Amino acid sequence: MVDFRLSEEQMMIRDMAREFCDEEVIPNAEEWDKGGTYPLDAISKAHELGLLNVTIPEKYGGAGMSTVDEMIICEELSRGDPGFGTASYHTMLASFPILTGGTEEQKSEYLGRVASGKLAAYCVTEPDAGSDVQSLKTEAVRDGDDYVINGSKAWISGAGYADWFFVLAYTDKEAGYGGLSGFIVDADSPGIELGKKEENMGQRCSDTRGVNFTDVRVPESNLVGGVENGGWMNAMKAFDHSRPAVAAAAVGNARGAMEEAWTYAKQRKAFGKPISKHQSISFILADMATKIEAARLLTLSAANALDSGEKATLKSAHAKRFAADMCMEVTTDAVQVLGGYGYSEEYPVARRMRGAKIYQIFEGTSQIQRMIISRELEGSF
Ligand SMILES: Cc1cc2nc3c(=O)[nH]c(=O)nc-3n(C[C@H](O)[C@H](O)[C@H](O)COP(=O)(O)OP(=O)(O)OC[C@H]3O[C@@H](n4cnc5c(N)ncnc54)[C@H](O)[C@@H]3O)c2cc1C
Repeated sequence: MVDFRLSEEQMMIRDMAREFCDEEVIPNAEEWDKGGTYPLDAISKAHELGLLNVTIPEKYGGAGMSTVDEMIICEELSRGDPGFGTASYHTMLASFPILTGGTEEQKSEYLGRVASGKLAAYCVTEPDAGSDVQSLKTEAVRDGDDYVINGSKAWISGAGYADWFFVLAYTDKEAGYGGLSGFIVDADSPGIELGKKEENMGQRCSDTRGVNFTDVRVPESNLVGGVENGGWMNAMKAFDHSRPAVAAAAVGNARGAMEEAWTYAKQRKAFGKPISKHQSISFILADMATKIEAARLLTLSAANALDSGEKATLKSAHAKRFAADMCMEVTTDAVQVLGGYGYSEEYPVARRMRGAKIYQIFEGTSQIQRMIISRELEGSF
């Protein structure tokens, strides 16, 4: 049996997240975006309400909620504001490799820190290596009981506010993907230098910057899982979890844009009636709603697979690809519904459209998702 209804508890969490965004996020989102201000206070408040990093198990101090619960919250936070949604998620992205492959000590220490409100960042991308992870240059070389890390990471969300980093680096350069290892690096380690905040097109309140590692010493106890050369699978497994969250964020941002478009279309009159009564506009609005619903179902299906312990690579890629492209279409259509006002920063749909683009780029571009989907399906036919 497939049950599409939310439980009482899930509806309560959803309503709490929605109310939080109505009060704390939506009234501030324009100012955060204009100033490029990281919403640290709102993130702390969301943490206190129990809305962040909710899948961290109870034994490490977390709420131990399901991935489906997490998706419900992610949708609401990005319906509040897309940049806020991303700023409230980078910590979980960094936590997944520890959750799926870390030792008990690593989980207890670093997931424990996250559960207590500390932030973390996921450092994989480099200036010359994004989609092509095998081209990474960062290396970790064994020296006594430590590893010494050298390299530069780029485009790291939340780097300026992180307490620790998950870092993917080569421990065996000759072995390709099989020579990559994951490390947990405390952000105050000597030799770490943060780059300046990037001036991004959208989601401008989210912090994105480079991180340089020069002779950064990390104890061997911070090699994720205590195993050399197991980093690739672990980092990729993290994406199976985080891609549905990006999809949920895209659904939330699209929903926010659709809500704005409906409100405007019902009050804006042209040729003697509200524009929502013109068929071409009402069909745009109807298509927005269908696309959002379809993306949400793909997202929840991927989340449900993860909660059932299934391999979710295909479902996560379907959800991320479809929801990211859908969000770009829906937010662009929302601008169209508002006409000239949609093009102005005075209305939030412009911010939502700018904020939509990144879903097609980070955590694997839409092209990379299609490659994963075709690779996963090839053997089935
Ligand atoms: C705002 C922002 C936040 C980010 N946050 C993080 C973070 O927290 N941590 C992190 O590690 N990284 C992060 N990233 C990096 C992000 O994951 C990469 O930008 C993304 O993976 C794409 O890599 P790239 O930019 O190097 O593009 P490239 O890999 O150079 O791709 C350029 C274009 O070529 C296409 N392409 C590449 N290879 C193929 C192929 N084989 N077939 C078809 N098309 C292909 C891509 O789809 C894309 O359209 C962030 C990026 C941004 C902009």
